[in-house]
Amino acid sequence: MGELKPDKGHELGSCNRTCCQRPGADWFNHSTQAYYCRSCAEWLNSDPFNRDYAQRTYGHDLCTPRQPGASERATGSRPRWRGDLQAKGPV
Ligand SMILES: [Zn+2]
Repeated sequence: MGELKPDKGHELGSCNRTCCQRPGADWFNHSTQAYYCRSCAEWLNSDPFNRDYAQRTYGHDLCTPRQPGASERATGSRPRWRGDLQAKGPV
């Protein structure tokens, strides 16, 4: 317990929930601005307080699935786990 992974909360990193930290986090929490695994995201979304807060604040659920390619467009950063994309040039 208490050990934090370096990629905790990062896109496709480890789930931001400290007691989870499952790899491949691809659900974005609009409140904490961090990424969670699907089960934690749905758990957060199911909370009545979170649901009410998110609908009033964002007009949608607190956690939403990551839009493929969205963050790459927004930040210009290269996805770390997408080496296969660069291999798709002319063969
Ligand atoms: Zn999780």
